Amino acid sequence: MEYRYDLNEKTLYIDENRIPAHSLENNEIGNCTNCDSILMSLSYHATGEYMAVITRCTSCGAFYANIYDSDWNWVDEIQVMLLPIPIPISNPVIDSWEDLKNVPIKKLEAVFSKGEIEALFDRAKDRTPVRQYLYRARKKYELFEEIFDLRLEL
Ligand SMILES: [Zn+2]
Repeated sequence: MEYRYDLNEKTLYIDENRIPAHSLENNEIGNCTNCDSILMSLSYHATGEYMAVITRCTSCGAFYANIYDSDWNWVDEIQVMLLPIPIPISNPVIDSWEDLKNVPIKKLEAVFSKGEIEALFDRAKDRTPVRQYLYRARKKYELFEEIFDLRLEL
């Protein structure tokens, strides 16, 4: 079973089941298995016959789900994955001849001069480009990315 936890909404997901918190009490819940510091509870969730207490280590920041039975006997400690998983926003990278030839020429022409475009293609084909043109083209990579959401790395 996979335990995932939405820190913003204090909601636990066990596989595809969404389990909202029924309590947001902050209590000391034992010690971190990672660094032995104190774990504090963030939220309490009822999962059928078990109780899951989401805890965070006050020192190393590790998250756990501590599982208890209905009599509050400790059952298990499970690592939780935090949601949402941050996805770094990055544009597609153009760093090869194959990539470059798939960029519509009109897009290139909108930003680069003829000489600069030639330099880009020379560079992509591992031919020696006219340095000055390549240099000038590179100064416009940022602009090109801003307009077309394509990142040149040539
Ligand atoms: Zn810790």
